[in-house]
Amino acid sequence: MAEKPSLFENVTKQVDKAADLMGLNADIRLILSKPTNEIVVHFPVKLTSGKIEMFTGYRIQHNSVLGPYKGGLRFHPAVNRDEVRALAAWMTWKTAIANLPYGGAKGGIQFDPADYSEEDLERITRRFTFALGSNIGPEYDIPAPDVNTNAQIMAWILDTYLSMQAPQQRQNNFHVVTGKPIEAGGSVGRDKATGQGVVFLIDRWAQDNQFELGEATYFVQGFGNVGSWAAKLMKPHGSRLLAVEDASGAIYAPEGIDPDDLSEYLESNHLLTDYPKVQSIDHEMFLATQADIFIPAALESQITGETANLLRVRLVAEGANGPTTPEGDHILIEQGIALLPDVLCNAGGVVVSYFEWLQNKRSEFWDLDMVDAKLHKMLMTAYDRVFWTASEYDTDWRTAAYIVALKRLERSYIRRGIFP
Ligand code: NAD
Repeated sequence: MAEKPSLFENVTKQVDKAADLMGLNADIRLILSKPTNEIVVHFPVKLTSGKIEMFTGYRIQHNSVLGPYKGGLRFHPAVNRDEVRALAAWMTWKTAIANLPYGGAKGGIQFDPADYSEEDLERITRRFTFALGSNIGPEYDIPAPDVNTNAQIMAWILDTYLSMQAPQQRQNNFHVVTGKPIEAGGSVGRDKATGQGVVFLIDRWAQDNQFELGEATYFVQGFGNVGSWAAKLMKPHGSRLLAVEDASGAIYAPEGIDPDDLSEYLESNHLLTDYPKVQSIDHEMFLATQADIFIPAALESQITGETANLLRVRLVAEGANGPTTPEGDHILIEQGIALLPDVLCNAGGVVVSYFEWLQNKRSEFWDLDMVDAKLHKMLMTAYDRVFWTASEYDTDWRTAAYIVALKRLERSYIRRGIFP
């Protein structure tokens, strides 16, 4: 069997294409080709059974020239150094495109949280936070939720981090993580932010392409935070959800699936494939769903040299990070399928994380209208930047998005110079 390609190599290929086209300064290309810090921690946890287990956690800090490191934490068996490196680099490009004062980082623990009780998850999360120690911090590196992590996990990280500070310092450190529950310093609108951003951008794309969302059909891979919110927020536009896939399998209903009803069904511990009144379909059939829009919102490397040819859509809106490989990209371009690339399309999460961070720093509390209006404005500006760059360089949207990011990073490095 062919060896699985390195995810970080995929990111490097994407960057190289953009860097060649824009003529990126060679020194800056060299600096950006490696993450700044790679923290690997092996830590013991005493589980509720009394058994001690060892875990491996990562925090990779790719770049901080534009501000503190920022990026999610993932709990998944596939978490490894290569994957986290790639995800950290994507955060650097994403924050630069959205014009946020942040760098890029990512982290996680290599394990399957489904195998552990809620109480053990809390122990693992707290012990990981302790092991990371001062490698995270509110003005240094700020984690957030990602695959299999949520507001509850962020609350445990916050509480553990604060417990590690002197009592006099605790109130100044609430912005050490974002995506927290509202009761623990979170922001309204953060839970839905990534899905909301995906839908704001799809709507904008539809307007620019004289495309009626009220008559559109779409399908979603992954029905967790990003996928379920994106689907629920497409509903008011009148678009019809034809198929959904998650880790348990895929379902299809030509007359449409109600995303609110499906969400409620899954919240009470049901399996997606047991959802009534739909057909179960296999992975290939799922990808071949005839629809207008595909929203991948699960894991990396789903649209590849082998699978991209199956797609029969007009637009791919990447809710997930890295769902398309360079070979997959090539096919999408050849087929004339439009793309809202991950570094633009799923930036809503980090934008509202930034709002949460600001609210914590300023002891403010914004309402949902304000959060949504500011999110919309920032994403439309980012969309415009990518749109104009794609026209200027006559290139695809992923490459254009990378050029936007690389130019901002290049300007900053050139102004500051390289020490010594
Ligand atoms: P989540 O854990 O809430 O949901 C993940 C979903 O993917 C689940 O429905 C799971 O069943 C499904 N899934 C897992 N393996 C699958 C497989 N092999 N095939 C099909 N489905 C599978 O995670 P999330 O936070 O929604 O993140 C999803 C993606 O979005 C990730 O790529 C993540 O990095 C990216 N992302 C998340 C955020 C955020 O704010 N949470 C922000 C930006 C990007």
